Amino acid sequence: MSELNTTILAVFAHPDDEISTGSTLARYADAGARIVLVCATRGEAATIYCEACATRENLAEVRTHELECACQHLGVAELRWLDWPDGGIAGLPRDQAVGQVVALIREIRPRVILTHPENGLYPHPDHLAVWEIVRAAFEAAADPDRYPEAGPAWAADRLYTRAMPQSIFDAAPAFAQYRVQLNGQQLPFIPTPDDQIDVVMRVAPWVERRMAAWDCHRSQHNPDGAFARMPEPVRRAMAENEHFILAVARVPLPEGVDDDLLAGLEAEAPRPEVAALDAAMLRAEIASGRADLAVCEGYLKDVTDPDFAQALREYAGLEHDILSLLARALRLAGEPSGEVAADRERLMRGARLETAGDRQDFLLAGVRQALARWEAREAAAQAAESAGPGGGEEALWGALRALGAEQLKSLTDSGEQRP
Ligand SMILES: [Zn+2]
Repeated sequence: MSELNTTILAVFAHPDDEISTGSTLARYADAGARIVLVCATRGEAATIYCEACATRENLAEVRTHELECACQHLGVAELRWLDWPDGGIAGLPRDQAVGQVVALIREIRPRVILTHPENGLYPHPDHLAVWEIVRAAFEAAADPDRYPEAGPAWAADRLYTRAMPQSIFDAAPAFAQYRVQLNGQQLPFIPTPDDQIDVVMRVAPWVERRMAAWDCHRSQHNPDGAFARMPEPVRRAMAENEHFILAVARVPLPEGVDDDLLAGLEAEAPRPEVAALDAAMLRAEIASGRADLAVCEGYLKDVTDPDFAQALREYAGLEHDILSLLARALRLAGEPSGEVAADRERLMRGARLETAGDRQDFLLAGVRQALARWEAREAAAQAAESAGPGGGEEALWGALRALGAEQLKSLTDSGEQRP
């Protein structure tokens, strides 16, 4: 059940590139994973294959709606745009582009990232550039010394890229000969030897979802395209089995497992069943957590003691985890979590403090109060659950309590070291 509560981030260059992983995204979305799609461009430079669908002037807008439509079919919970120029990604200032993706990774905090392969699948310059940028960002996001302004470091566990095995090309010679037209160039699809494929997602039950998502991209339906000309059984087989290469792994795939992108990833905190949770209470917790995080980030700007700085970074990283659990609980309770503002009174109070000692006391007091609340709620949930059929409320408070205890430890340890 490792997919529960796990975030998968897919980063692709153009609207419709996500289709190549569509059945897989739908499969994990159904299992409870949070799927975030980052689309680098609006696809405004594409050929328009359906004249009734779009004009050159409104193509970006049309493709935006087409991708939003596809996301609904695939269960993508969040769609983000980088608004990079279609066809011009390779020409962007590279450091800045990597920094943008680093900031997204640190904010979204995925376990697994999916992107274009090193060979682009076909050598579209945008695909090649996105691969290079995401590959660099995967490393940089985990390094607190790089892009420090982009938030606390986050080490995703695995970076996968999409692949097409040689056997697909062998089964469909017409497909092997097909060329993608790009500005007068003829770009071939590039096969990967079957023995270099790391994961085959067997996703037949989700093929209809992928097909429905593809139907959304009407402006891109080329009657002479590779997919239109492919025999129906081959097209289906391609959607029923999606192939991936494990490009970088901090956590390797377990021995002998080749059909699950998330295999061997330790589950995150248990998913709460929150029907019984009070949304107002969750919002109050989020408001307070956001205030403490903002205060901590303010302290990090002028902290001089390296031990305290380290403690603050650990505290902030844990606070992100806490907020993500709370936001998820609020979403599951049917409320959007994005608009909860930081508790203004806490924010002002924390921001006024100047000495490291006062600052540490402020954060410590906040952690101790939160721990007391969460312990009491956990105990109440435990009592309620032992009386009747159990939800996961106890698990939510328990997970928060564990994170709070870690915060307490990192802040207290830093205090002992400082004279
Ligand atoms: Zn593309």
